[in-house]
Amino acid sequence: MTAQIIDGKAIAAKLRVKVAGAVDTLKRDHDLTPGLAVVLVGDDPASQIYVRNKGVQTKEAGMNSYEFVMPSTTSEEELLTKVRALNDDPDVHGILVQFPVPNQISQQKVINTIDPEKDVDGLHPLNAGRLTSGLEGTVPCTPFGCVMLAKQFGGDLNGKNAVIVGRSNLVGKPIAQLLLNENCTVTIAHSRTRDLPSVCRNADILVAAVGRAQMVKGDWVKEGAVVIDVGMNRIPAPERGEGKTRLVGDVDFEAVLQQASAITPVPGGVGPMTIACLLRNTVIAACRQSGIDCPAH
Ligand code: NDP
Repeated sequence: MTAQIIDGKAIAAKLRVKVAGAVDTLKRDHDLTPGLAVVLVGDDPASQIYVRNKGVQTKEAGMNSYEFVMPSTTSEEELLTKVRALNDDPDVHGILVQFPVPNQISQQKVINTIDPEKDVDGLHPLNAGRLTSGLEGTVPCTPFGCVMLAKQFGGDLNGKNAVIVGRSNLVGKPIAQLLLNENCTVTIAHSRTRDLPSVCRNADILVAAVGRAQMVKGDWVKEGAVVIDVGMNRIPAPERGEGKTRLVGDVDFEAVLQQASAITPVPGGVGPMTIACLLRNTVIAACRQSGIDCPAH
């Protein structure tokens, strides 16, 4: 079997068109332009690229983009003061602080300070609790994107075995919760899991969110499984020249391609979905804050 390669770029582009359509409707019928504020602390090159892409795509969708770059010496209180000011700004409907933040700042304190209604990353404990309790809230972007892909390529998910490798608050746990909501039988694996290969072989839907290059091997995957690779790891690529690197996932792509029915590539799989879902979350947040039925739902 050779798996279908899931074109995350194309699916994300379609989602962005839908979001842009919703923004048009909000502007025309409600005089409302959703606004997303992104705060970057420090000068990490990868974070700078993410923030730039988010800004470009926010504007392309017709929304207002507010970007704030703060020096790496920013104190925790200075960042929290910035977040509180954005909480109070009626033109800002979504706030995203790009992580990681420098060591002198507590990431959890930042998350706790963002107004849960503007928490478009879906990381505030109130939104995490809402997701667990099946209440309406903001769903984290990468997990929502992963589950959209799993639903599109996994057919009817009812009763299927889903294995998620990774249990972070950002990725693994919300994916598990979303797949549980889709009536999957969910297993969450992590660094202490015994015999991980055989746990993975039980999966109809296998999600790898670990951060270890090409860890999931071909013989860990059941024939016909749908494989969603969240990992983003840089490995040396001497074939591209001295000192060059390339991006790979947590899955040994070439080997798993022969086993799975569908698989996300890295890059071009889950990554593009994340920003598209962020834009969607911003539109939904703007509608909730304005008491409008959301055209992006
Ligand atoms: P974390 O480091 O927070 O979590 C990693 C998880 O993997 C932990 O639960 C850890 O277990 C588990 N783990 C580590 N080593 C092993 C192992 N040998 N066997 C089994 N489980 C293991 O990472 P994130 O969840 O934040 O991110 C995961 C990956 O996804 C990263 O590569 C990241 O870059 C990528 N990512 C991609 C995004 C995208 O848009 N495509 C967005 C966000 C993240 P334990 O809890 O026991 O330590």
